[in-house]
Order: sequence, then C-alpha cells, then structure tokens
Amino acid sequence: MREGDGPRDSHAAGGSLSRPHADLLIHGASQLLTMDGGGAGPLSGRAQGALGVIEGGAVAVAEGRIIAARRESEVRALCACDSRTTMVDAGGGVVAPGFVDPHTHLLFARSREKEFTERLRGVPYMEIAARGGGIHASVRAFREATDAALLANGRRRLAAFLIHGTTTVEAKSGYGLSVEQEVRALKLLRKLRAEQPVDIVPTFLGAHEVPIEFRGRKGAYVRQVIEEQIPAVAAEKLARYCDVFCERGVFDIEESRAICRAAMAAGMRIRLHADEFSPSGAADLAAELGADSADHLLAATEAGLSKMSRMKVIAVLLPGTSYSLGLPRHAPARRMVEMGIPIALGTDCNPGSCMTESMPAVISLAVTQLRMTAEESWVAATRNAACSLGLGKDRGRLAAGYRADIAVFDMPTYEYLPYHFGVNHVSAVIVSGRLVAERPHSTNGKAPKRAADGRSSRRGSGPARRAAASSR
Ligand SMILES: [Zn+2]
Repeated sequence: MREGDGPRDSHAAGGSLSRPHADLLIHGASQLLTMDGGGAGPLSGRAQGALGVIEGGAVAVAEGRIIAARRESEVRALCACDSRTTMVDAGGGVVAPGFVDPHTHLLFARSREKEFTERLRGVPYMEIAARGGGIHASVRAFREATDAALLANGRRRLAAFLIHGTTTVEAKSGYGLSVEQEVRALKLLRKLRAEQPVDIVPTFLGAHEVPIEFRGRKGAYVRQVIEEQIPAVAAEKLARYCDVFCERGVFDIEESRAICRAAMAAGMRIRLHADEFSPSGAADLAAELGADSADHLLAATEAGLSKMSRMKVIAVLLPGTSYSLGLPRHAPARRMVEMGIPIALGTDCNPGSCMTESMPAVISLAVTQLRMTAEESWVAATRNAACSLGLGKDRGRLAAGYRADIAVFDMPTYEYLPYHFGVNHVSAVIVSGRLVAERPHSTNGKAPKRAADGRSSRRGSGPARRAAASSR
C-alpha cells in the first residue's frame, strides 16, 4: 500500500519476511465497523446505512495508517507483531473509525447555563438578550477573555471530545465579529490543533451575527466581512471553510451569497447554517454554491432539498440543538434519505443552544428523534462527516491506507450505542496510530481478555487520565 511497509521490520519480526510490521494491533473486537463499501464519497439513500461490519475483526496500523482491517485471523496472517507492537485489546467490544464532528463552536469564553434554565422556564429570547444574554453575551465574553483563558477552555472541550471517541472536529470562529478578533479566534484554533491529538478543521464564521456596534448598519458589517475579514483570514490561510448564519433576521440570501462568493474567491470552501428556524432559501443557496455542507435544515423546503440532492450537498444534522432548546421539531431526516441526500451528524457544540461534546449522545438522538437507523447514524457520524469536511479519502473508514483514527467501545454490538444512552462506552481512542486515551473496560458484562502476545495496552495511562480529568 505504501512504500517501505514490507521489508522494513521483517528481521525483527522473526521470519515474517515481506509481512508488514504492525506498530499497533487492535484485536478481540466483536464487530469492526469499516464504513468501506460503495466507492468514494459519502453514502446516501439505501446505502446510507452500509456499515461494512466484520465480525471478529482486528485492525493493524503502521506509521499512523491502517494497513489491514479484516477478520482477526487474516490480519494476524498478513501483519507481523512483535514486542514493539502496541496491543490494544478490544475485549469483545466494537471498533469503529473515530467520530468526525463536522459542526462545532468549541472556542468560547463562558458557559450560559442560567440562560438555558430561563429559556426552558419560558422566558422569551428577546428578554434574555435584553438582559445581556444570547450570542452577544458570548461575543462580549470572547473579546474580554485572555488568550490563555480561551486556550484553557478549548483544551477542556477537546479533551472531552476525545474521550467520547471524536478524533476530528470542525471548529468555527464567530464570537469575535471583528477583523482582529476573528483572526485571533482562528489563530487560537491553530495553536490548539498543534498541541493536542484531536484534529481541527477551521471555519471562518465572521457572519455569525451582526455585532452590537453595527446595529442598524448591517450593510456596513457585511462590507467589513467581505473587504477586511476575509482577506485577513485568507492572507494567513487560517480557515479551510467559510460559513454564514443564513437565516431570516440574520444574514439574508443576497448577503450570504456575496460573503460566500468572496470567501470562495479567496480560496475557502463553503458550509452554511441553513434554514434552521425558517425557510430562507439557504438550502438552495448551498446547492447553487456547491457547498460541502448545509447544516441544521429543520425548515428547508422540498425544492431546496431537491437541489441539495442533485448537487450531493451533504446535510449536516444537529439533533442536540433541538433537544437542548426543548423544541419538538427536528430535521426531516427520513425524507432526506428517501431523496438520496447524504446525511452527516454533528454536535453543534456551543454555549448557547447545545452544550455537548458527545457524538454518541447525538447518535442516540438521531435514532430516537430523527428516526434514522443505528446504521445510518454511525455512517453519518464517521464517513459522511469526514466527506463533508473534504477528508473522505483520508479518514472516516477502517480501510488500508486510511489515517488510523479509531475508537474502541466497551459494548457488544453497534446497536448498543444509541440504546444505552447518557454514559460513555468509549474504552480507547487512537489518533494517527497512537493510543491517546484509554478507560478501563467496565459495565457491559464482558470480562476484558488479556493480550495474547506483545505488550499489553496500558490501562489508565498518562494521556488517558489527563483527558478524563480535564473533561470534568
Ligand atoms: Zn452552529
């Protein structure tokens, strides 16, 4: 598959001439979810649920990449393991690609739980905003916070993503809302990306809201986004994506189109906050622009969805947001599957409307509230989410050549994840072939098996304990 895989370690591996040496082997899985059928790109329609399950599988990794993901006997015959191989015992659990979370606002200064409580007691949003709540509260807090405080919060969020099995997150700016502050947000994300295991795909969201100092002068703010923010972000290549909150009362279709066109001309790709609360034509705009994703879509029209289907725009659905806002309404996921729109799932992790880092929680909500099947939801949280970030050829599958970003779950079957909700079943997380988080096997009735050979994985080792501690 790649040069150098074969003979490199054949002598040390003891007579396994030409068998590639495995740096890491995950064995003892009840099920491998490979997500590897159906060619390139996202899965949709009937194929949205094609998990590619291998019973009794194992995964071998070398130099950060998967070299084999097959039945365990086949992997052991294909690859050489020795005393240098890190052995990870899945203990009869499920092994899947690490989750890819394609929609987060993880870099913020302060939580807003008081507002959450008031909203659910029935206090209207305008009243909450008038008391200094809402997104403007997050903007004010972000601008006042030191870099050190924002980084500390970001680290805490990312550690929590990691121990819930997420290995790649998209992360948006959008609480700065000025040239200087938006650039600061994206630079802090770049710093976080370099210093911890979760990979971060940065998105510029200067058009998240009109900041207070531009109240009544939205046109002037849109001009600043186009003429100053986008060039400043592009000059330092700080963002792969540009996103716009395209919604009635925020940025309309013309403003959103102008911002996206400017971002595209500056080299960014597009994802959109689309038709969350009312139909504004944002799904149509996503199709027109060839966006990689349109997100939320609770109020998208049939015509808008048809255009997305034709253009294969991925629908990123965020059921945690409706849940946390206490809304009975959800995106029409079943209709989208029928129409052949590929679906991805994300957390929308943010302090205002959805405070969670847990993709397992989102999968559970997708199954119970969106009526997606467990199979469709797993694909949506891995392969399709990776595709929505332009990473479909690199991660989101357990397949030879793919980046070894892998989550191990202490549970007997993949259906178990949405079923046993509200607790964390992740027992190990591997990023780029490195074991970066581990928790002891626990609750689900299976005694962990001992490693058969090589050195056993270290339960409760340093990074795991640190990750677990900082998420509290
Ligand atoms: Zn969002």
